[in-house]
Amino acid sequence: MSKHAAVVGSGLVGSLWTTFLAQRGYHVDVFERRADSRRAGYKGGRSINLALSDRGWRALEAVGVAEAVRREAIPMYRRVMHAIDGSITTQPYGENGQAIWSVSRGGINMALMTEAEKHANVRLHFEHDTDLDDALEGRIQWTTPDGKGSGCFDAVFSTDGANSGIRKALQAVGAMEWTEQVIDHGYKELLIPAGPNATSLIEREALHIWPRASYMLIGLPNPDGSFTMTLFFPNEGPVSFAALDTPEAAEVFFAEFFADALALMPDFKEQWAQNPVSKLSIVRSWPWSKGKVVLFGDATHAIVPFYGQGLNSGFEDCFELNRMMDALGEDPATLFPAFEAERKPNADAIAELALLNFIEMRDLTGQPEFLLRKKIESKLHSQRPHQWIPLYTQVTFSHIPYSVALERGRQMDRVFAEVMQWPGIAENWDQPETLAKIWEVAEQQLVPSY
Ligand SMILES: Cc1cc2nc3c(=O)[nH]c(=O)nc-3n(C[C@H](O)[C@H](O)[C@H](O)COP(=O)(O)OP(=O)(O)OC[C@H]3O[C@@H](n4cnc5c(N)ncnc54)[C@H](O)[C@@H]3O)c2cc1C
Repeated sequence: MSKHAAVVGSGLVGSLWTTFLAQRGYHVDVFERRADSRRAGYKGGRSINLALSDRGWRALEAVGVAEAVRREAIPMYRRVMHAIDGSITTQPYGENGQAIWSVSRGGINMALMTEAEKHANVRLHFEHDTDLDDALEGRIQWTTPDGKGSGCFDAVFSTDGANSGIRKALQAVGAMEWTEQVIDHGYKELLIPAGPNATSLIEREALHIWPRASYMLIGLPNPDGSFTMTLFFPNEGPVSFAALDTPEAAEVFFAEFFADALALMPDFKEQWAQNPVSKLSIVRSWPWSKGKVVLFGDATHAIVPFYGQGLNSGFEDCFELNRMMDALGEDPATLFPAFEAERKPNADAIAELALLNFIEMRDLTGQPEFLLRKKIESKLHSQRPHQWIPLYTQVTFSHIPYSVALERGRQMDRVFAEVMQWPGIAENWDQPETLAKIWEVAEQQLVPSY
């Protein structure tokens, strides 16, 4: 008899995982608190679009839904940095046409639900606010506009997001510990509208950054030609959302620090007044399972968005859980502890990498030393592709475990801490003897780990 699973939360991760389970032959009941966004309109409440990269694509490809998503995705081949004086520098993300992809959060969520629903063994239940009853029995309960219900399942997969009620329920019975770290920056979304005939007013196939040291503005393209802009900004203090307390004050600030972007947003003041400031936080938890219940995605490891990896890591959870089911079987007693033991160090590592990348994006991308290091790294990578893999490439364009990438990144930082001190490095870096000297330092610092 086929197994019967519950998935709690049909957000991005839950919708993809449902398809994995359906293809394994499970009967899957999916319980989602919201109304069906395909009928009611998408109300995600978070970023409008997001960047998808190799880890996410691999999981989508594994269940055959990548093409459906790619049709609406826009490749972003490079970073375009906008200095305060309006001058522009660019820097490719990878090589040979490697790109990260801008996708609509609502679009991909709805596409994944539709893909999941194509399986006869999947049933989606909307407006089911779901909670845990008994983890050992796999029992959950739900409240709908029409009343209450409950059910017992062979396995319960909780993908109910950063505010997971199931996580809180497990904590309440002493089965899980978790923390939420709210960072000092929040975010506000704005829009650069499309130009005539769905053209884009700034370079389309790129991620735009306005780095301003302690804060930044970024822009990701949408299929209609518009750009969703996100201002990451301190919540409190002299330069903060609290200080820009009127649209007029915000406009004066933008005129000074983001003049080129402001010029492309004719309705800036209306947008500023209407669009909320949202918080950014990191959720850390342990363990991720109890009895027949396992949690993953943002429910156990929400991170800040600066590496564009929150969703990618959640999709990688799906890929890895499926792989481990092949290797270890499907008994929760064996599978879930093995899964959480493997994924937790990687979740911790990407949480740290994402915080570090905030400093890189908002501050370092605007500095000449950063561009120099990127050029040198690109050369080292082309000389010995397996020995020097830039950190961004490891995280974004590979499946190297995040924890290995973090460690390897620290080793590479030690190499550059030394190399960047060398007199004349900016002029001589591409001389054969300089590159040979860099390799000497690298060989001392890099410990082969993969
Ligand atoms: C500003 C911003 C930008 C981001 N950019 C990127 C990016 O570029 N790249 C990237 O990879 N990631 C990005 N992320 C992270 C990404 O959004 C998350 O990692 C991803 O949404 C997690 O998916 P999830 O399915 O785990 O959670 P969610 O998408 O939050 O889905 C959870 C689902 O559970 C449902 N639910 C909640 N409670 C209940 C309940 N009691 N009963 C039933 N259902 C319930 C919710 O309604 C929702 O549908 C960004 C995040 C933010 C905030």
